[in-house]
Amino acid sequence: MGVKRFRDGEWQGLEVLTYKEKSERWAGVTRVDLAQPDGAAFAVRYFEVAPGGFTSLEKHEHVHLVVVIRGVGEVQIGEETTTITAFDLVEIGANQPHQFRNPGSESLGFLCVVDAQRDRPILLDSDTLEPLDRLNQSSCEI
Ligand code: MN
Repeated sequence: MGVKRFRDGEWQGLEVLTYKEKSERWAGVTRVDLAQPDGAAFAVRYFEVAPGGFTSLEKHEHVHLVVVIRGVGEVQIGEETTTITAFDLVEIGANQPHQFRNPGSESLGFLCVVDAQRDRPILLDSDTLEPLDRLNQSSCEI
């Protein structure tokens, strides 16, 4: 409850989490869990993708609402890739393949709203958008 403040590139008083263990399938991503109020069916997270970084290419049943609040980057949804910048709202529907990438020189930061209870992402092959084999799967969190 109350006010959480983003100042000088940081959420004051909140822990910065590594998105997940480093892998060739993602890089340079951090996460801050901003809010999951008691009784709410949703959660709000803040992700930051460093220059050259990218999230995993994945799909899942739950949807994402993303609001970019700093920097410039790109999002791939299905086979389409679009540039995104501050105040853009990105909607990712159920089972749409998606990946956030930062080819720029400053950090890309965005808020992400998700269901509090959600299914696990399935990692996808970047050429075919088909699921990777089970050996290449691992737990992930966007
Ligand atoms: Mn996702």
